[in-house]
Amino acid sequence: MENCLFCRIASGEIPSNKVYEDEKVLAFRDIDPQAPVHVLLIPKQHFNDILEADGETIAYMHSVVKLIVKDLGIDESGFRLVVNTGADGMQSVKHLHMHILGGRSMQWPPG
Ligand code: AMP
Repeated sequence: MENCLFCRIASGEIPSNKVYEDEKVLAFRDIDPQAPVHVLLIPKQHFNDILEADGETIAYMHSVVKLIVKDLGIDESGFRLVVNTGADGMQSVKHLHMHILGGRSMQWPPG
């Protein structure tokens, strides 16, 4: 989608610090990390948010989350998976993304 930041990252037009990539999804380090591990996982297909996405895409992203947390060594220590959605969810980039946060104890509720 034109002018979508994460579509431009998915296409390679804007560089990213890649953690995982296949034909359907891309995972890259957040530019403003909130934890020692802070990765964003996006589908390459554009969905504005999780409400727009189909279950097959979410299920696939879930399978990739499992690979990433194992690869980054936070599968056993634990992590937080966050999908900010809409205005009250403070979603700033309108392309579905999952935040994978780990490497430290995460406070709840988040600030
Ligand atoms: P959200 O507020 O849930 O929409 O999250 C958007 C995230 O994208 C924020 O954590 C930003 O730090 C991150 N972000 C914005 N631009 C970039 C970029 N060029 N590369 C990596 N992460 C980015």
